[in-house]
Amino acid sequence: MVLKDNFATRSVHFSTNKKDTIESKVTPIYQTTAFKFKDLAEIEAFYQEDKGYLYSRVGNPNTDELGQAVAILEGAPTGIATSSGLSAILIGILATTKAGDHIIASSDIYGGTYELLVNELAHFNIAVSFVDFTNISAVKSAIKPNTTLLYSESITNPLLRVEHLPTIVELAKQHQLLTMIDNTFATPYLIQPYQLGVDLVVHSATKYLGGHSDVTAGVLVGHQTLLAKARKRMVNLGTTLSPFEAWLACRGVKTLDVRMERQVGNAEKLARAFRQNPKVKQVYYPKYASIKGNGAIVTIDLNEDCDIERFFKSLAWVKLVPTLAGVETSVSYPRTTSHRALSNIEQEKLGITKGLVRISVGIEDAKDIIDVFQAAIEEATGRS
Ligand SMILES: *Cc1c(COP(=O)(O)O)cnc(C)c1O
Repeated sequence: MVLKDNFATRSVHFSTNKKDTIESKVTPIYQTTAFKFKDLAEIEAFYQEDKGYLYSRVGNPNTDELGQAVAILEGAPTGIATSSGLSAILIGILATTKAGDHIIASSDIYGGTYELLVNELAHFNIAVSFVDFTNISAVKSAIKPNTTLLYSESITNPLLRVEHLPTIVELAKQHQLLTMIDNTFATPYLIQPYQLGVDLVVHSATKYLGGHSDVTAGVLVGHQTLLAKARKRMVNLGTTLSPFEAWLACRGVKTLDVRMERQVGNAEKLARAFRQNPKVKQVYYPKYASIKGNGAIVTIDLNEDCDIERFFKSLAWVKLVPTLAGVETSVSYPRTTSHRALSNIEQEKLGITKGLVRISVGIEDAKDIIDVFQAAIEEATGRS
């Protein structure tokens, strides 16, 4: 065999696959920072007709697939994937506001979102008011001449209140405001906010969409016009998702339905068991979130005589982790994690008490899950 090129050249070019069409069963990972063009006309087509791919920060087949997959589940025209749930929220807000605007956000939102709104939006000269969204007249009273956006979550964290989205949408329409809803806890399996008239739906795909606690990603879905603006913000801010993370999240989305069916069913049974346990002061579990059930998160407030340290130590195979939505059942302690940024007074006002434990129910056997928690509660309230 005559080797035409020299060693250094061969080492760079030899491994490149020369076949341009290999039909794999699933989408391959386009782990590339950029895409090659046949000729200058193809570059023109990219800019003029939005055809093909140029550079992965701008667009990549795997990240597009994730955005599209979630848009299809939400019943929305289009979607984009971003580097995290928080970056999806940020670019969604920047796509719907400009400097000098004001947004109204629910006071009962994810801790990280609260920090984003409080600490970062000021840099963009965007003001925020926090209001209890279950009190729609309070939301209405908070509207100012420069208000442009209402922001809330379909099922709130950690107290799992279900927001009445049609009421929020109606108020927004009356005042020409846009609406953005974080649908992370519900997922489109339970609730599809876009179908109810919400303008932008945002997800932390880190949670149920990914489903296996191995990918950090965000998704934003909605109408093309708003999404085109959001994509511009994403490209300019560089909050793009990596192809591999997108590929993992796409794999997760394929099993969302079966995972949710099992997890929601398990959560229902666990909530029922807690309600019959006198050592549990309060059970937070939605009643009418959707016809397919009420989600897979159960939050409990344990009696004052429960030793919370001992409770967490007695949980056998249930892990204490400050996240949710994986296939394994896990617990978190909002007071010192997700809601750490709030003062004690703010925590008490929101109901983030010392006995509050958020449980993310997994796909294990329902009876085994119930047994683990009942045993830990016994252990933690036992005669010491
Ligand atoms: C986790 C979470 C976020 C933030 O998502 P990241 O992927 O961690 O950036 C936002 N909203 C809700 C409801 C969440 O649970």
